[in-house]
Amino acid sequence: MADSYDVIIVGAGNGGLIAACALSQMGLRTLLLEKHNLPGGCAASFVRGRFEFEASLHNLPYVGPGAENGDIGMLFKRFGVERKFYPIPESLHFIVDGPEPFEFKAGVGREAFARAAEAVCPGAAEAFERFTAMCDDLNRGLAALSAARGRPDPDAMAREHPNYYRLASSTVDEMFEALELPELLRDILSVFALYQCGDTSKIDAARFMLMTDSFITEGASQTDLRSFGLSTALANSARRFGCDIWYNCEVSKICTDGGAVSGVQLSDGRKICAKRVVCNIMPHLVYGRLLDPAATPVMELKKANARTLGARAFCVFLGLDRDWRELGFRDYATFINSSIKNAEIIRNGGSRESNGDMSVNVLNAVVPDASPAGTCIVYLTAMFNGDAFADVTPDNYTEIKEAYAERLIARAERVLGVDIRNHIEEIVISTPVTYARYLGTPQGAVFGYSPEDWDGMMSRNMGEQAEKTVPGLYFAGGHGARLSGFSPSYMSGFMTAMRVAGEMRGGAPA
Ligand SMILES: Cc1cc2nc3c(=O)[nH]c(=O)nc-3n(C[C@H](O)[C@H](O)[C@H](O)COP(=O)(O)OP(=O)(O)OC[C@H]3O[C@@H](n4cnc5c(N)ncnc54)[C@H](O)[C@@H]3O)c2cc1C
Repeated sequence: MADSYDVIIVGAGNGGLIAACALSQMGLRTLLLEKHNLPGGCAASFVRGRFEFEASLHNLPYVGPGAENGDIGMLFKRFGVERKFYPIPESLHFIVDGPEPFEFKAGVGREAFARAAEAVCPGAAEAFERFTAMCDDLNRGLAALSAARGRPDPDAMAREHPNYYRLASSTVDEMFEALELPELLRDILSVFALYQCGDTSKIDAARFMLMTDSFITEGASQTDLRSFGLSTALANSARRFGCDIWYNCEVSKICTDGGAVSGVQLSDGRKICAKRVVCNIMPHLVYGRLLDPAATPVMELKKANARTLGARAFCVFLGLDRDWRELGFRDYATFINSSIKNAEIIRNGGSRESNGDMSVNVLNAVVPDASPAGTCIVYLTAMFNGDAFADVTPDNYTEIKEAYAERLIARAERVLGVDIRNHIEEIVISTPVTYARYLGTPQGAVFGYSPEDWDGMMSRNMGEQAEKTVPGLYFAGGHGARLSGFSPSYMSGFMTAMRVAGEMRGGAPA
């Protein structure tokens, strides 16, 4: 075992695993350190009785059709990970369970979505074309940017891709307004923002459009391997490429020498040297806890403090003792919301008392053999945009989480007309406290930072190149420039690895 590496990666979440694969495949001596005894972070699964529950992956967008399967297909192929993708048949399905009930369901493909929107909102199909044309402009701008390897000719970009720049500082609501979309179409499209409890008056338009367009145009997928299978396969690939992986190793300090990174210290006191450290953990933790205050740029601290934490999750994992159709379920995915208005949903999303909205996912509806024949796996997930468990104490924690889970189950039964309570064979509940403890994120945030207009995808990408930070310190993961989710956190690990390798081979440091 060497005690000196080219690169150390802290955290074996999606971003850390892909960075480990890429760096070690390029021949760099790489060490991946993970505080738990298994890889994956959010991307894990766990077994209870006859059920293997997925910890996080409900919808995998950006997979893309055909044999190539987009960015994820490219990465998995590159690192030798075999997987099968199961397409999810709906692009969007939600039920408004409030004073003005409403249901919307659309299949995959722009035409299918336009048809479904036109059926409830005359004129929506034409307006939707303006939205998809803008998505195409955005994609062309991004393609030009990536062809220019992040150093585009600004005049040519402004001339050839004006909408790319127009979107750079727009919120979702501003983009809707500029495109003059009818109100109901705005409400419908805004439901995509709820995947991450996003406030459309604040979050950046560009990332929202990429995600929404991917859900609508290509659809999302599930995989045959649960997340733990994916994460283990990636860890095995990294090892095959020569990466050392140490589990049960918590990094307690990132060491610096003369202001530059010199290695890490583990919680048991061991020190390992490396001039480059890739953090698969949030800047909040790195600048607030791991880095010597004297080596921490004030600007980075200010930036971390100025950011808004992304959604905190509450999940009920259900192993039911009947086939999903027998219990009355009809769809893979359904959002149940109290209102059709994003502003109202977001207003309610701060506390347990006001927030009873959720997404319901029936895994067997897409992966038929996800559990033994005659059983099914169902997830109920509520997202909070506030510190909804701040008032909970060790004494009342179990009571509060069970009461909240009971409330979600009762509502799902009533709205979907299904029978859950009489068929629970296994039940597991996770709360923001679970995620805070497991991932170490503030308030149990599971989607990094909220992509607010000043802190959106484009500004993070531009800032990543321009801002001065600690020499040798890099980030990868769902808190990064590509924002959160499986595909973005994988891609962030890959891009960071490319940057590290490029700099080591003499490219310009950031
Ligand atoms: C309930 C839920 C549902 C979700 N649904 C979806 C979905 O449907 N589709 C989708 O695309 N995404 C979804 N996501 C988001 C997705 O899971 C995340 O964006 C992604 O997995 C984050 O990866 P990451 O690279 O940021 O690493 P993380 O998962 O944050 O992992 C970080 C790792 O670092 C380790 N670590 C932390 N501190 C230290 C330390 N000091 N020393 C060593 N190791 C450390 C942690 O143990 C962890 O393993 C969901 C997430 C949750 C929780």
